[in-house]
Amino acid sequence: MNTAVAPVYLDHNATTEPAPAVRVAMIDALTRTWGNPSSIHGHGQLARGVLAQARARVASFFDAQPAEVVFTSGATEANHLAVLGTLRALSGGTRRRLVLSAVEHPGLLALADRLESDGVPVTRIGVDRQGRLDLAQARAAIGDDVALVSVMAANNETGVYMPIDELVALARARGACVHVDATQLAGKAVFSFAGSGVDLLSVSAHKLHGPKGSGALLVRKGRVLPPLICGRQERQRRGGTENIPGIVGFAAACDTLAATLAQDIERMHRLRDRFEQSLIERVPGTVVFGAGVPRLPNTSCLRFGELPSDFVLDRLDRAGVIASSGAACSAGGMQPSHVLLAMGESPSRARASIRFSLGRDTRDADIDRALAAVQTTIVPLLVAAEPTAASTLESAS
Ligand code: PMP
Repeated sequence: MNTAVAPVYLDHNATTEPAPAVRVAMIDALTRTWGNPSSIHGHGQLARGVLAQARARVASFFDAQPAEVVFTSGATEANHLAVLGTLRALSGGTRRRLVLSAVEHPGLLALADRLESDGVPVTRIGVDRQGRLDLAQARAAIGDDVALVSVMAANNETGVYMPIDELVALARARGACVHVDATQLAGKAVFSFAGSGVDLLSVSAHKLHGPKGSGALLVRKGRVLPPLICGRQERQRRGGTENIPGIVGFAAACDTLAATLAQDIERMHRLRDRFEQSLIERVPGTVVFGAGVPRLPNTSCLRFGELPSDFVLDRLDRAGVIASSGAACSAGGMQPSHVLLAMGESPSRARASIRFSLGRDTRDADIDRALAAVQTTIVPLLVAAEPTAASTLESAS
């Protein structure tokens, strides 16, 4: 008999476990509704019906219209479709500039770099020490030459919210489009696409207890968006035979989340705050990034003194707690998080960042185990390294 206790999973911003209803729905799609939705025979009709139903359920979760949902392979593709589609739709005109934040997802930042090297004017807006977007910079950057303002709803590392309403107002005044990468917001906040004024919105199923390789770009009704992948599907906005199991899994995840969203948000918030408060009290040298500003209810991005994150994560992993860092491995060692560098942190502090991200299944017992693991594995190291360091909820100044 396997008596091993499952590790405490606190890496929900990276990905989430598919919900039981998602697995059931996907197996059913693979078994029963495997037809091609474009076929006119019975198998095709069955798949078409399932697709239409899934589209309506996903649309309803985000308070959008079914026709506004373009299914994609995930948020990375949705982000590319939003940016490249908008630039293409406006090509030949005077609006060519792309405005984005310096703390976007690496895939979007890489796309912006490539576009810039191809001659597209790009402006990157900075953030302050708490990770908040610099609205003065945004105001200055959003002029009559801007095609698209692309900003994430909440940062994947720190959880800090971006000022979407303000950006929509600025873009509206200048006639620019707004794209929001809501990959991390979805499932952690109640959100209405209809009420947001946003033109384009990216979401990903695997952050919502759905499958990987499935997501969507919501495209506001009336907005013309040339495809990245040509073909007749998705109203000619995304070619390729639809990923029915992935789409059905996405819809099942939305239904599952919707049933308990308000309680889940409330619980994650309470547990995250308890976790941080206990760390501040018990672990010398704990600094929480973005603590003083509104952020996702499930995310805690912090450092234990300047202990390198790979070292801390390895110790925690061995003690049965799974978290992650913003730092990325490269041939030259650990690259500090671009998000924390943009917040003005030193490379050594940025390399020390640990992200704990709670999920809808996280409970008090998980938090207790995570706190105990930090206490037994990390505190002795810190006490030896920094005997007088004070813990703080404020971001380092
Ligand atoms: N944007 C953000 C903010 C993300 O956190 C992620 C996933 N880490 C992505 C985009 C990419 O999503 P996907 O894995 O669906 O391509």
